Amino acid sequence: MIDLRSDTVTRPSEAMLAAMTRAETGDDVWGDDPTVLRLQARMAQEAGKEAGLFFPSGTQSNLAALMAHCARGDEYIVGQAAHTYKYEGGGAAVLGSIQPQPLDNAEDGSIPLERIAAAIKPLDDHFARTRLLALENTIGGKVLPADYVAKATQLAHERGLATHLDGARVYNAAVASGQPLEALAAGFDSVSICFSKGLGTPVGSVLVGSRALIDAAHRWRKVLGGGMRQSGVLAAACLYALDHNVARLADDHANAGRLAAGLAQIDQVKVMSQATNMVFVQFPQEHCAPLEAYLKERGILTQMLYASRFVTHLDVTAADIDTFVAAVKGYFAR
Ligand SMILES: *Cc1c(COP(=O)(O)O)cnc(C)c1O
Repeated sequence: MIDLRSDTVTRPSEAMLAAMTRAETGDDVWGDDPTVLRLQARMAQEAGKEAGLFFPSGTQSNLAALMAHCARGDEYIVGQAAHTYKYEGGGAAVLGSIQPQPLDNAEDGSIPLERIAAAIKPLDDHFARTRLLALENTIGGKVLPADYVAKATQLAHERGLATHLDGARVYNAAVASGQPLEALAAGFDSVSICFSKGLGTPVGSVLVGSRALIDAAHRWRKVLGGGMRQSGVLAAACLYALDHNVARLADDHANAGRLAAGLAQIDQVKVMSQATNMVFVQFPQEHCAPLEAYLKERGILTQMLYASRFVTHLDVTAADIDTFVAAVKGYFAR
């Protein structure tokens, strides 16, 4: 099957599985797992932060970070399109008693500075206390402009807010922009990074930040049920991915470009955007369900919506992209 639904669908390679099998392990709730400790230290160092913490999922890593930054009745400023706000079941509010203050994202994924400034509430008993600005990079595949990130995080800090980056795909941003992780993480008090997306591990996210922030998140991780035992087998997959699956993200970005260029040749298809490993496309509404079924019969998994998203990853080759484009052409040529 050629699966273009998400970059979460990758399977661990033989070599990654071998690295997992060889992992030295211990009980990580006791702080005894050397492989987890190695991953956490390496991520902290690469991101230019004091400490790191391994989580089973990006959702839990983001939530523990928000709970470490914000107390009950505090508020965080976040984009309407952001994962922590829109796609995590409202966890910050439901489990953290943190009020989101969502703001419209601009076309490039940023939250305009004047909207952020206007949303920060004065200290007054009528209002939730605005404590945190959360951004996402990449967002919808797009790399946030570096000067925007610098200005937004500076504004937040000047107004007494902390800053969090949902960097689920921050390595895609690093490879696409040529900036090192440390530069992309600069300005943020915490950054959450997923290994189970483009980096191709079965499980795992790492949160990085100051020692104090990570200590607070460590407590919330336990409360949220994320304390794991011999999780070195999972951390070994992440270490393997850092060594083997980062630079190759450039291939995914090239394949996304190839996919966008291929679909752009088809009259009935409107390519709306392509950035890093994501392509957003509009199909005529009446064709979405039949096209999805047509592709599935030909071994291609997609999620066809009016605005469809196609995601490239390490289990999709350039030849697979050509097969997909040819199948879409075949459908519309009938
Ligand atoms: C996938 C994703 C997450 C959450 O990761 P899970 O491991 O699926 O919980 C968070 N933020 C963004 C932007 C994501 O794409």
